[in-house]
Amino acid sequence: MGKLLEVKNLRVSYHTYAGEVQSVRGVSFELDRGESIAIVGESGCGKTVTSKSIMGLIQTPPGEIKEGSQILFDGRDILKFSKKEWQQYRGAEVSMIFQDPMTSLNPTMKIGNQIAESLIIHRGMNKKQAFEEAVRMLELVNIPNARSRANQYPHQFSGGMRQRAMIAIALACNPKILIADEPTTALDVTIQAQIIELMKDLQKKLGTAIILITHDLGVVADIAQKVIVMYAGQIVERGNADELFYSPRHPYTWSLLKAVPRLDSEKKEDLVSIQGTPPDLIAPPKGCPFASRCKYCMQICKEQAPPVTKISDTHEASCWLHHPLAPRVDEIAVETG
Ligand code: SF4
Repeated sequence: MGKLLEVKNLRVSYHTYAGEVQSVRGVSFELDRGESIAIVGESGCGKTVTSKSIMGLIQTPPGEIKEGSQILFDGRDILKFSKKEWQQYRGAEVSMIFQDPMTSLNPTMKIGNQIAESLIIHRGMNKKQAFEEAVRMLELVNIPNARSRANQYPHQFSGGMRQRAMIAIALACNPKILIADEPTTALDVTIQAQIIELMKDLQKKLGTAIILITHDLGVVADIAQKVIVMYAGQIVERGNADELFYSPRHPYTWSLLKAVPRLDSEKKEDLVSIQGTPPDLIAPPKGCPFASRCKYCMQICKEQAPPVTKISDTHEASCWLHHPLAPRVDEIAVETG
């Protein structure tokens, strides 16, 4: 399996009246064919900006992909694509689904026609062929009575069915990558589980690689092989799902995991929210970006950015606690300022 996607030193800024917000600061990762990766972090951590960059949705001001960034898809730098190459790439090679399908679906168009549209544009099908394929796609995403549902409008679908329809649209042209940005956040827990199960199932059937963007580590365990944890525009920890869940090494990941509800715990106090706010990315701190919220913060954390420490071939974390001379966690006086 070759590398399908290589993101190298991605840096993205937004130009605002207050100054240049450095939303993504040197993010690099790779995705293999058919692999699933989750990018996790609180809102504003840069995960959505990263996915929009891969989708080619940051091409005009106020957003700017900085010089030196590279996004290679099948070895080709998408940041150098022509207009025609972008059209082919979006939809046919990479597709995206969003949190709220109601804002992405066209309320005035029948669901079947919305799926058929991309098949006509990208796969050159005629109207009849495209509609038949749309019905097949609705069946694939487990919409009952697919043929009659294809003739209905989005408002006639429930929230979960609308998200299934979005997945059908996104996968209609058999893209190599599906980017799912908080795909289950607007849904209730039972439907969330069904959508994640459906994505897993489709990944197996179609071999589509998935980039799952989420603030919720709880939905990651089931679907992602690799996990990237982002904070303040940077990757602070990455590893296989098992490594991240059973042996997390960054205090921010520890906090995210404590914020995940567990079925085996009845105590409300077990669920901990992360205190404080992320740093201002117009003037990012010179040391560790998590320092102001980290209870293990040491003097050096405020002065120097932590180096990347390799825990295993697949697992790494950026935290001074992994320096050979650092004190053990239980020896550090708790300091939150
Ligand atoms: Fe906390 Fe320091 Fe590690 Fe940053 S480098 S996460 S402040 S211990």
